[in-house]
Amino acid sequence: MEPELSIVIPLYNEVDNVEPLYADVTAAMAELGRSYEVIVVDDGSRDGSFPRLADIHARDERWRIIRFRRNFGQAAGFAAGFDAAQGEVVITLDADLQNDPRDIPKLLAKMDEGYDIVSGWRMDRKEPFISRRLPSMMANRMISGSTGVALHDYGCSLKAYRREVAKGIRLYGELHRFMPALASWMGVTVAEVPVNDRKRQFGASKYGISRTFRVFLDLITVQFFLGYSTRPLHVFGGAGLLAGGLGLLIGVYLTFVKLVLGQDIGTRPLLLLAVLLVLLGVQLVSMGLLAEMITRTYYEAQNKPIYAVREVLGPTLDV
Ligand code: UDP
Ligand code: MG
Repeated sequence: MEPELSIVIPLYNEVDNVEPLYADVTAAMAELGRSYEVIVVDDGSRDGSFPRLADIHARDERWRIIRFRRNFGQAAGFAAGFDAAQGEVVITLDADLQNDPRDIPKLLAKMDEGYDIVSGWRMDRKEPFISRRLPSMMANRMISGSTGVALHDYGCSLKAYRREVAKGIRLYGELHRFMPALASWMGVTVAEVPVNDRKRQFGASKYGISRTFRVFLDLITVQFFLGYSTRPLHVFGGAGLLAGGLGLLIGVYLTFVKLVLGQDIGTRPLLLLAVLLVLLGVQLVSMGLLAEMITRTYYEAQNKPIYAVREVLGPTLDV
């Protein structure tokens, strides 16, 4: 029998958090009274987390453990968990006890209203302002503004997804922070609920201040993928036409100056600009065409659909 809920927890070097996590989740889920499985993805821990997890699995079969060969990062952890998840609803959680499993019923109540993703919002965060909350606030603004999925707290791991939505998100690098935005290509409804934020008691955070810059770069990737991954020529070609067109105009003007007015143009900076713009235009358009070919390989080699179906009335051609 499939469980109703799958709880996915990426875990990396959290040895002292394993037992409290088990106790916390189990207590919260006992109150809720729905069937569930927990998928802990041990992301290559080297601090003895795995034997503790194995011990829990031996006690409680609902806890499934996936152990990575090495540290692949939190996004890979989520991806492995999503692949393995069987529940109708998939809930993600941090292993370090900063999220409170007692908030899970709140997320589920919101899911029952029909949303595809419900995101936790840590309204009262317990972390330092300058190094953590300020960059996070700016990142949330930027991601919300440019991806069109407005959330106050992208960084909160406590989120709930409908199974087919979770399985439709393709994660790379550290893009797990953008999961609701990445899911938006399918056309999803997203809601937020305030959740509890707790201080980390055991172990240390795995990320430093450099995360801020990586998030900014990732934002460019996500925006490109969301907007243009099926039509890259529209980005490159657009810029290319603009540059090339402008270069051509300047060229025509310079030709006029030379042939009609009879002035020398060899020393004019404008000539250099015209040549630069025309070359740039040609380069950008051909880059766009190359990107179009890569896009076709990307979608067709993996049989990736360019659409997502909500439901079908009447027979389908699926076998
Ligand atoms: N984590 C992971 N792999 C990594 C880094 C982190 O699975 O490479 C897990 C970690 O064990 C924790 C969660 O991801 O459960 C969030 O990490 P952390 O608490 O360090 O991030 P922060 O709360 O400081 O943003
Ligand atoms: Mg944490």
